[in-house]
Amino acid sequence: MPDEVDLLVRADFLYPMSPGLPVIADGEVAIRGDRIVHAGPARPAGHWKPARTIARRGSAVLPGFVNAHCHTASIVFRSQTDDGTGGVGLAGIAFRMEKDISDEEWRVLAEAGCADMLRSGVTTINDIWYAPWHLADSVSRSGLRAQIAHKVFDVRLEELHRGDYTRHAHIGEARLKDGVAFAERWNGAAEGRITARIGTHATDTCSASLHREARAEATRLGIGMHIHTAQTVKEVAVIQQEQGCGPLEYLRDIGMLAPDVVCAHLSYASDADLDAMAETGARYAHCPTIYPRRGRYPRLDVIRARGIPTGFGTDWMQNDPFEGMRNAINVMRVRLGDPDYLPTAEALWLHTMGAATVLGLEREIGSLEPGKKADLILVDLNGPHLQPYYGDHPALVFYARVPDVAVSIVDGQVVLEDGRPTRLDPEAALSALDRHKPGWSRTLRSLGGRCVCCG
Ligand SMILES: [Zn+2]
Repeated sequence: MPDEVDLLVRADFLYPMSPGLPVIADGEVAIRGDRIVHAGPARPAGHWKPARTIARRGSAVLPGFVNAHCHTASIVFRSQTDDGTGGVGLAGIAFRMEKDISDEEWRVLAEAGCADMLRSGVTTINDIWYAPWHLADSVSRSGLRAQIAHKVFDVRLEELHRGDYTRHAHIGEARLKDGVAFAERWNGAAEGRITARIGTHATDTCSASLHREARAEATRLGIGMHIHTAQTVKEVAVIQQEQGCGPLEYLRDIGMLAPDVVCAHLSYASDADLDAMAETGARYAHCPTIYPRRGRYPRLDVIRARGIPTGFGTDWMQNDPFEGMRNAINVMRVRLGDPDYLPTAEALWLHTMGAATVLGLEREIGSLEPGKKADLILVDLNGPHLQPYYGDHPALVFYARVPDVAVSIVDGQVVLEDGRPTRLDPEAALSALDRHKPGWSRTLRSLGGRCVCCG
């Protein structure tokens, strides 16, 4: 009797990212409901009775990319903090503009951002930003999987470019209250695809009391946290001056860090910081594309040698996992003078299983194994930039591009097909961006942005 399944995905090459990181020629993934029942060599004809089969000639199947740290709706700043802002575009442009972006604008940006993520082969995001309810709504409709946090802080971010760290307790209280309300409403929503986190924005943008209150709320709600830390010179200097230690030592000392905390960046983390983090079991989101732009790359080798669970994220505006993996490999091999550092299989692991581990989802996603959630992508291998395709890890990691992602499946549901989101209307999302662009452009220019459109 053939085995009945809902979906059978066949591919020339299967990268299951299971222990040992094998690649299997003529592979298949059989899916029943939202779970994988088989991921391995194709069974003989007649073994399965699938309700639907996806079998593309010239394709590779792999786990969907897990994005351990990102800001899906931040695309509003695309290209405006990358060049010619002396590395201070974050505080000088983004922080001064984001406070005035309306709830409706965040809705439009979240929708377009979700289309971008899906198009890039990302199946799970870990996001901290404004108006998380709109992102949750887009995630819910689009079919993505997400961990989402409201951005909590108690300084005026728009004053940070002047070095003004005045604390405003009412801002912190209001934002934490909204973050808690968001978590209560959305944690476990969208058939369990959405998980909430409490998002204390950064080490230096929350006072110690706000960090502690946020930690207490996350613990009470049974959810994790998400924070930027050791990201900037200024942050490290402020913490050193106020607390007499590094940012991670400080977060450990006030009881913030635990295995359910995702710490992004660590660009300026000292050895003592890394020791403090390793002690607590907190996890690390490493974003290989943003660091070279800022001229400072975290010590990925040292961090991983400490045993700190690590995975890749995209941070903001450039959500291309292939570029991310290549950036990490290229930068680290040059830095260490070691052409063997970070083999491609390991880089791919860091954007799938590694990132799933950072999010505490290692038992559910990140590899294609029976019993896990069916989150996977199909990459089309027919492009001349990929041929001849020999099926090893370098073939995929060094040569595949985002437009090669043809199909995405999350929870056993096809959410991207022929490179198009099946449940979102990307054209509608993009034309909504067009309507808002003149206003954004004016504001960006007034803050030193370099847009040449809508003059
Ligand atoms: Zn970030």
